[in-house]
Amino acid sequence: MTLAELENFLSRWGKERYRARQVSRWIYQRFAEDFMAMTDLSKSFREELSRECLISSPPAERVETSSDGTEKFLFRLEDGETVESVLIPEEDRRTLCISSQVGCALRCGFCATGAMGFRRNMTSAEIVHQVCFALKRLAEKRERLTNVVFMGMGEPLENAREVSKTIAILLSQFGFGISGKRVTVSTAGVVPAMLALAEEFPVSFAVSINAPTDALRSALMPVNRKYPLKELVTVMKSIPLRSDRKVTAEYVLLGGVNDSEKDACGLARLLKGARVKVNLIPYNAHEHGDFTSPSGETVNRFRDVLLAAGIQAITRERRGGDIRAACGQLRGAAQAKTP
Ligand code: SF4
Repeated sequence: MTLAELENFLSRWGKERYRARQVSRWIYQRFAEDFMAMTDLSKSFREELSRECLISSPPAERVETSSDGTEKFLFRLEDGETVESVLIPEEDRRTLCISSQVGCALRCGFCATGAMGFRRNMTSAEIVHQVCFALKRLAEKRERLTNVVFMGMGEPLENAREVSKTIAILLSQFGFGISGKRVTVSTAGVVPAMLALAEEFPVSFAVSINAPTDALRSALMPVNRKYPLKELVTVMKSIPLRSDRKVTAEYVLLGGVNDSEKDACGLARLLKGARVKVNLIPYNAHEHGDFTSPSGETVNRFRDVLLAAGIQAITRERRGGDIRAACGQLRGAAQAKTP
């Protein structure tokens, strides 16, 4: 529950508003798993909460650790579905990549989640739980979570209501208290929901572009038929940004498909005038895709074309590839999609 929901809920019991703030802090900041542990609440209130409410905090069913320190967590949801999140340690950062849907309906051709098809939206409780779990794990090592990215399984803006509730909890000073600039929503380009979310929260956006033309993008990402590149780039330009911020344009480089110098020139033309930085992501192979990863030389050439055109571009370091935790590889414990 967001703070507002908790206030509404407890007001029906005749409780004062500050009670909601107390409960919220216990859950999101002190990770209480039992209402009886909330010792600044009266015993009768704690008993009432225990009778009527549930704090759900199941442990990860599987934890895998990559040779580079990246950790992947598999969570089994109440209906037996599974999702994954990934915790990526860097020198001065701890980034958690979370899932927002079981599977995904958008079926981008290079993505293992897309190959599963769509199973269902996650609830805000299920999305938030991934954050609670990672925070507790980091707290044991006296480490702090610095960034949360909606780049796991699913298209967050196809589950905008639950994602929006999750962001409210992430940003609230009575929730996780994370700054909006450290929360990134990655989207394949669900245009109307992008604008609505940008108006609601000061979060960062990463937009998955992956092709310089509509023909190629539609072949790789069917969502492009609904929201073509021109519309998408127009929205990217209109997202309200602080002067020191940029929208991230993500570009998965697929060997021999979208990685030529001509493609790079096309991308530079497309993004001209937009406040963007480009993240180049060499394709991470998985058994559900037929693409190959380009050579390091091809990646560098592509990046240099963008830099020469005055566009900030970096190549994203591959993390967690040995445990299938890299970008585009998440799939939970999914079997083949049932009809
Ligand atoms: S890349 Fe994102 S939007 Fe596309 S299929 Fe995968 S999870 Fe869905």
